[in-house]
Amino acid sequence: MKHKASSENKSFFVFFLFVALFVTACGDNDRANNSDSPVATESQVNMVPPVDATRIINADREPGNWLTTGRTYDEQRYSPLKQINASNVGRLGLSWYYDFPTNRGMEATPLAIDGVLYVSGSWSMVYAFNAASGALLWQYNPGVSKEKALQACCDVVNRGVAAWGGKIYVGTLDGRLVALDAVDGHVVWEVQTTPKDAAYSITGAPRVVKGNVIIGNGGAEYDVRGFVSAYDAETGKLNWRFYTVPGDPSQPFENPILEQAAKTWHGEWWKIGGGGTVWDSMAYDPDLDLLYIGVGNGAPWNRQIRSPGGGDNLFLSSIVALRPDTGEYVWHYQTTPGESWDYTATQHMILADLKIDGKTRKVIMQAPKNGFFYVLDRATGEFLSARKYTRVTWASHVDQETGRPVEAPGVRYDSGVPAVIFPGSQGGHNWHPMSYSPDTGLVYIPAQQNLGVYADEVDFSHKPGFYNTGVDWTKATLPDDPKQRAGVLSQFTGFITAWDPVAQKEVWRFPHSNLWNGGMLSTAGNLLFQGNADGQFVAYTADSGKQLWSFEAQTGIVAAPISYSVGGKQYVAVAAGWGGSLITFGEVAGRSKGSVNRSRMLVFELDAKGELPEPVPFDRGTPEPPVLSADAATIQRGDDLYHTRCFACHGEGAISAVSFIPDLRYMSAQTHELFKPIVLGGLYKDRGMPSMAPYISNEEADLIHTYLISRAHQLLAEMQKRPSGQILEP
Ligand code: CA
Repeated sequence: MKHKASSENKSFFVFFLFVALFVTACGDNDRANNSDSPVATESQVNMVPPVDATRIINADREPGNWLTTGRTYDEQRYSPLKQINASNVGRLGLSWYYDFPTNRGMEATPLAIDGVLYVSGSWSMVYAFNAASGALLWQYNPGVSKEKALQACCDVVNRGVAAWGGKIYVGTLDGRLVALDAVDGHVVWEVQTTPKDAAYSITGAPRVVKGNVIIGNGGAEYDVRGFVSAYDAETGKLNWRFYTVPGDPSQPFENPILEQAAKTWHGEWWKIGGGGTVWDSMAYDPDLDLLYIGVGNGAPWNRQIRSPGGGDNLFLSSIVALRPDTGEYVWHYQTTPGESWDYTATQHMILADLKIDGKTRKVIMQAPKNGFFYVLDRATGEFLSARKYTRVTWASHVDQETGRPVEAPGVRYDSGVPAVIFPGSQGGHNWHPMSYSPDTGLVYIPAQQNLGVYADEVDFSHKPGFYNTGVDWTKATLPDDPKQRAGVLSQFTGFITAWDPVAQKEVWRFPHSNLWNGGMLSTAGNLLFQGNADGQFVAYTADSGKQLWSFEAQTGIVAAPISYSVGGKQYVAVAAGWGGSLITFGEVAGRSKGSVNRSRMLVFELDAKGELPEPVPFDRGTPEPPVLSADAATIQRGDDLYHTRCFACHGEGAISAVSFIPDLRYMSAQTHELFKPIVLGGLYKDRGMPSMAPYISNEEADLIHTYLISRAHQLLAEMQKRPSGQILEP
């Protein structure tokens, strides 16, 4: 799949050598030859000084590398490379690919460092490749128990690794932080960062700031209390921890600001944790010496259960600025006071200097789930502006004076009437990274439209270690009537919006057929790259949104691409593999690719002619349900139980939208016979299906089984109407 370098590439190579020499001459001896990676051999890797603060802060001096998850500490996800550009991107082809040994979702942004590509995958595995040839240098499997899948709200994904001092850091699904040797992948140190038996998980990429590895965690759909920790990059020693929500006020507060925060809470919130997990975004400003963390939703979601009597519930759904050396609080801005809809502020944050009203402002920008695009002063947290970037009905606007949203009536579902609002819990934008191009001045948001149905769970009781949203999911199922159903489904869409953050308005939009599309990369070549839910990896012009090139990836892409160069040649890389929280949304997440999800590393270069193997046809077979002998009321009881106990993994309506999660309507006769041993006995625990005995009684298991049998018969009837086969194939 390799080909000879063109003369154009050679001159690019010479140019980079010149830049490298120039940088050296300017006294940056510690970064000699790092502006590109002329030779990608292991011995060469050893000769290059390891990633440190100087290298990351000056990342623009070595545009051929991608040193931290957002490329730079300001997390702009913009590549200064332009060998691949709008005039030649049509010649882009597959350079190499690698089939990951798992077919679950891929959400990681790779790192490209001195000729080596590092990427994490599902089950927190890590891979290192020769970035030019694709040869696997090493891989690491932390051996996460498959049963942990039950405590991963949103798939067993991982969003990336961090690099520092010759080590590669990964957070694992079961809450460990692991330091690996960058050369051979052996474990240098490992620490458990979360209480071991609690429902915490780690899916986010660590950041390393001033020798501290900063790591958060997830679990606010369950019953945890959010925090972010800093570990010494060399030794793994815990340096500080910042809790995002107050604990039991009868105990001493961990820091003074939590005493203030506790005044915004009521009731006994600490008993179910309170939530506020820092499960993804961070950014760092070295000049201001501020670390920014994005804080998630409440646990439970429903504020009237979490904090009866109301309150803002700080620091839920907030951007919080901390001192990276100590974890000391500096400022916060809360996007959604009194969060009650899973409106996390964990979405990607970008730092930039913008000219606003004739003044250069140091800003931080975020498009959190709640549907507003925020611009804040990042030195002080001052609210500058917010506008809707997607359909939003829960609030009319954000008040310019107070910086607080003006809520629509009834949105808090506290008067017995469910709230049907835009956006739903998938958010107007989720974790999929944005990109900011200093060339166009635009922020590219992988945005989406979706609605949520929120109903109070009137008989809520805390289920330790399990889903505790306080939302009655039985009220949120799709209508059975096909026309009504299609009407609701049509409200779930996705699009790229190219957003002017100064004028707070959309400049161009590219519509997608589905929501849950991939993260963004903009480049100096006037290009914007994005993979999408339809399984295409696409290049657009960054200034106008014109589609220039696409590649059939055979699987939905959700991760963000990067660009790097080795030996004077520019590459574009993306981890492909459909997955993440949307997969549990049944038909909403359905894609008609007709192939098995294949998680792959895909790397592209100009004039490469590589091809993927033919996709493997996917067939779930024929449902083999036993005879249905239950009345409608019994089936409905099973339906309700399914949609409180099972749907979070197996999908709304027992429809699986992905090949790697069984669609329970297709159960074979043998699986029906083994139903209780599987569900209550843990027969398939090594496949990611733990025993549900703590949460489902024997009688309830029978009722759920009855519902699934009825769904299988419904499917058989539909299949008879459509002799070509299934109605939905992942
Ligand atoms: Ca959440």
